[in-house]
Amino acid sequence: MAQPLNRYKADLREIEFLLFEQLKLSEVLGKAPYESWDEETAKTVIEEMYKFATTVTGPYNGPGDVEGCKLVEGRVKTPTGFKDAWKKLYEAGWKSLSIPAEYGGQGAPRTLQAIGEEMMSGSNTAWNMYSGLTLGAAEVIEHFGTERQRKLFASRMFGGVFAGTMCLSEPQAGSDVGMAQTSAVKQPDGTFKIRGTKCWISAGDHDMTDNIVHLVLARIEGAMAGTKGLSLFIVPAKRVNEDGSLGAGNDVVTASIEHKMGLNGSATCVLTFGDNDDCIGELVGGAEHQGMRQMFLLMNFARIGVGLQSIGIASTAYLNALEYARDRKQGSSIKAFKDPAAPRVPIIEHADVRRMLLEMKAKVEGIRALVFKLAMHQDRAVTLAGKDDAGAAYHQGQVDLLVPLVKAYGSDQAYKVCELAIQVYGGAGYTHDFPVEQYARDSKVFSIYEGTNHIQSLDLVARKLGQNAGKGTQEFLGDIAKFVAAHKGHAELGAAVAELEKAHEAVASTAMQFLGWFQGGEMERVPLVANRFLEMMSELAVGWQLLEGASIAAAKLGAASEKDKSFYKGKIAAAVFYARNVLPSVPSTAKIIASGDRSALDIPADGFASV
Ligand SMILES: Cc1cc2nc3c(=O)[nH]c(=O)nc-3n(C[C@H](O)[C@H](O)[C@H](O)COP(=O)(O)OP(=O)(O)OC[C@H]3O[C@@H](n4cnc5c(N)ncnc54)[C@H](O)[C@@H]3O)c2cc1C
Repeated sequence: MAQPLNRYKADLREIEFLLFEQLKLSEVLGKAPYESWDEETAKTVIEEMYKFATTVTGPYNGPGDVEGCKLVEGRVKTPTGFKDAWKKLYEAGWKSLSIPAEYGGQGAPRTLQAIGEEMMSGSNTAWNMYSGLTLGAAEVIEHFGTERQRKLFASRMFGGVFAGTMCLSEPQAGSDVGMAQTSAVKQPDGTFKIRGTKCWISAGDHDMTDNIVHLVLARIEGAMAGTKGLSLFIVPAKRVNEDGSLGAGNDVVTASIEHKMGLNGSATCVLTFGDNDDCIGELVGGAEHQGMRQMFLLMNFARIGVGLQSIGIASTAYLNALEYARDRKQGSSIKAFKDPAAPRVPIIEHADVRRMLLEMKAKVEGIRALVFKLAMHQDRAVTLAGKDDAGAAYHQGQVDLLVPLVKAYGSDQAYKVCELAIQVYGGAGYTHDFPVEQYARDSKVFSIYEGTNHIQSLDLVARKLGQNAGKGTQEFLGDIAKFVAAHKGHAELGAAVAELEKAHEAVASTAMQFLGWFQGGEMERVPLVANRFLEMMSELAVGWQLLEGASIAAAKLGAASEKDKSFYKGKIAAAVFYARNVLPSVPSTAKIIASGDRSALDIPADGFASV
């Protein structure tokens, strides 16, 4: 059977610019623990991963959406091509790129792994859910598990022999994770009997591996209510003997799968544990009541993963729309509007189409810069660990601060970029003939799972802003202030940098206002405007990253080849566009927040509608 058509696209020049010219990945390559990596190897890996995404995973994205997952005799059957792609993924080693060598990995910087995740997700988001969750769950066991758990479970998960999941949600416990009722009863041998129902479990069942290791949040008998009473358990779908061979089934049943708006190739399952009182779990690391602390590692991983999913899909939506706009002829040039016989032009020549495309480009490249800046902070923290504690703490502080921005702003904007892509196509974009409608459907859930975007904004304003006495926030604002001071007088970018400066002042003063509300006990005001604050802070960060890229591009323009000249001019145009069209909304949002409107709180419940 002929292979289906690949629709996935990425701009490798842009990715290389970001990694090597802007974020200076080479500064960590060659340094412990990345001694065996250099720029040439990294570039080769990026090219090979792109080849994989366009030939192995990309072709099965559209067909996987149409075919979807099916529950056949109690087991999930994934779409055609998915299982084969899983096998090829682990043979190629792309999923174990940043895994330490002791687990069969290649010890690469996180940043490189992140590029792979962007490409795999962008080419086939549904398919990448399975291995993405497996990697995250394996990292939790590697980090918190016992030596035996690492050997028995994590090593097999890193190698794609077993898959993994994260099981938090229950019908009554969505955002309110602390309401989880799944129970754990200690057995004489130290294991636990698990009983409960988990819902919405991505990759909860499938046919790509012989076993799936569920990480399940459950409450040990007698433990306190709320999140503090939760513990994390390793609950394999099939029991695992000490030599790694598979034993009997573990009383984990796939009760049903969801029929969703998108991500149809990703099985979202309702799982029951212990209906026959025969589901055995073991505590991660043997530690009781540490479930949320341990799960946070996975949630952080997954939230950064959502940022990567977001740019992966937004980027291919943009590049597909761009290709269509260059090809589709409609209307004549505005300069010839009086001449009905004037030649038809490609729609990319129309101002409004160019506006949409540039907005998409700016958002894709700016958010990508923010996501990879975060990944670089992770890598730099690793290289400094044990040598420069203050430096490592600075980088870790930036990681913590940026996670909610990357997750929430990234996902909100990815959906908007996909919507714009449909608009660029016109009617064609609304059909199944082109990939952008699937991108829009697939990306909507990014703002919902891994903590809704409102939960992200609360994490930002209530935890991250004031973390370590506000050190991370001050350093973030300080870094931007330094950039503004250095580039205010830039001949070409000065006016755009002035917009960044205004946005910086607005974010700094609004952050202070939040602190005032917390200290003054005016808590009710916080959730009303938390999402707006997250958005304005993200816009500041994205505007900064775009302008930083543009300043590098401007410096290189003179000596650049003809092809690179256009590339660098594109970087400058995107940054100026964002600074002049998006950044001015930051001070206006600050005004809205300061105005203290309470109407959403004060409206009577019956006032929303008379029905
Ligand atoms: C496709 C898909 C895959 C998923 N995969 C997984 C998975 O692998 N593992 C897993 O455990 N879960 C998974 N989930 C579940 C997901 O994490 C939840 O849907 C999410 O946490 C939101 O919970 P909920 O759907 O119950 O919505 P609710 O919590 O009911 O929220 C509904 C609305 O109310 C708001 N809200 C809720 N509480 C508050 C509050 N205290 N203050 C202000 N606003 C609030 C929310 O922001 C949202 O707008 C998945 C969900 C989907 C759709």
